[in-house]
Amino acid sequence: MTADTATLYIDGRWEAAASGKTREIRCPADGELVGLVSEAGREDTERAIAAARRAFDEGSWAALPAGERGGILLKVAEGLREKKAEFAKAESLDTGKRIVESEIDMDDIANCFEYFGRLAANEAGRLVDAGDPNVVSRIQYEPVGVVGMISPWNYPLLQAAWKIAPAIAAGCTFVLKPAELTPHTAMLTMSLLEEAGVPAGVANLVTGDGPNAGAPLSEHEDVDMVSFTGGLVTGKKVAAAAAETVKKVALELGGKNPNVIFADADFDAAVDNALNGAFVHSGQVCSAGARIVVEESIAERFTDELVRRAKDIRLGGPFDDAAESGPLISKAHREKVDAYVRAGEAEGARVRCGGAFATGTSGSSDLDKGFYYEPTVIDQVKQGMSVVVDEAFGPTVTIETFTDEDDAVRIANDTHYGLAGAVWTQDASKAQRVANRLRHGTVWINDFHPYLPQAEWGGFKQSGSGRELGPTGFEEYREAKHVYQNINPGVTGWFEDRSA
Ligand code: NAD
Repeated sequence: MTADTATLYIDGRWEAAASGKTREIRCPADGELVGLVSEAGREDTERAIAAARRAFDEGSWAALPAGERGGILLKVAEGLREKKAEFAKAESLDTGKRIVESEIDMDDIANCFEYFGRLAANEAGRLVDAGDPNVVSRIQYEPVGVVGMISPWNYPLLQAAWKIAPAIAAGCTFVLKPAELTPHTAMLTMSLLEEAGVPAGVANLVTGDGPNAGAPLSEHEDVDMVSFTGGLVTGKKVAAAAAETVKKVALELGGKNPNVIFADADFDAAVDNALNGAFVHSGQVCSAGARIVVEESIAERFTDELVRRAKDIRLGGPFDDAAESGPLISKAHREKVDAYVRAGEAEGARVRCGGAFATGTSGSSDLDKGFYYEPTVIDQVKQGMSVVVDEAFGPTVTIETFTDEDDAVRIANDTHYGLAGAVWTQDASKAQRVANRLRHGTVWINDFHPYLPQAEWGGFKQSGSGRELGPTGFEEYREAKHVYQNINPGVTGWFEDRSA
């Protein structure tokens, strides 16, 4: 895609890494070279942080009327809609995901920019009743400052946009470090921001890995906030490093999301959505419905049907019209997913289908060239087994059974994660009761996966802290300041003036 390795965007200029190091980006669907990008090191990220700091402290950005920042975001949304094909192609080449999925992502991202563009000028602050006619007391909202943004490879631009849009709306400046495997749409976005009128230094990008290019964003004292989306292990490192400078931390981490299916659910819809929940994007979705928790009386029939449908899923590359799901992101990740399945078997679980690398040809795709894994259904599991506890982030789903409503809720909440969950039943009261009791940040009733830019997204428990999207996702990037004015100052007399 690009032969130019000046892929770091710092202070409004495209630069190469100071070390001169580069990284090849290859499509996980067929191993073809997508582009060569700069591999930023610590010094590059520090240069980007300095630019963001200057733009925040010395520039006019933070003081720009919020409506003007909102206008910039609306232009970004418009630009993205115009360039949707180019962005979607870049996203699919980096991730291997189907082009139709990338196109949907680009629509969602444009909607996200538009939502925060409209929100930017709202909720400027509030008056506080101080209980004293001589006092004017108000809360005003100000940008947090310089934000370090670290994003994952599964939804590269979507996850970054959930940070960029509210940060710009609030008046922050930022340094974004996308996942090292999927940098291209972040690069395109920097040009889009520039075209929409974002001044130099406000938006900065470093392409590179976590320990070198990413770590300074959680460590550096000139960064006021770090917003991280990624795995639990890395999230803990980011939070620990950020604690040294007491910076604000927002974490969107993994999930082990229960999909609870009662016997009175619409059977066909529940099976179909269970497939979507588990196998869309080959399960590389933080909210994937990787744990099916199904009522005992229908468990056998449900599992048989799920297995039959899972075996039929067509795998293939991003531009193969016949493909329904794509490859895993890398060789290493495919090996990790396979090791997870093997560990489940060793603990006594049964692999009902899949559980192996997908090979041969399918449609127009040569699966041997990519990192494909067969959709995998695992039953005969017990709570506490690693396949039930750990996030696989691949095309695997486990089947657990329950006897009654209390049992369903207990099993669904038996996880250290708390990102998302679903409940399937045609009994509206039961659906609400169960939804209320699930300790997960999003609960779907008779659906799986939809999200809205105006609705908060985030995790309970170890799925993270803070929220993205919605008004709360905007608040993350603002500080509340209390301004208290005494309009009739006088002597308090608290300390006696002994000279009088
Ligand atoms: P990861 O934790 O390996 O990497 C995420 C990002 O952190 C990457 O940009 C990486 O380079 C960077 N990184 C790695 N080490 C770092 C360090 N020491 N300091 C700073 N940055 C560092 O995660 P991944 O494999 O890219 O993504 C998959 C994970 O992301 C899954 O666990 C998934 O559930 C989670 N995720 C969560 C959400 C959500 O909304 N909650 C959304 C998407 C993905």
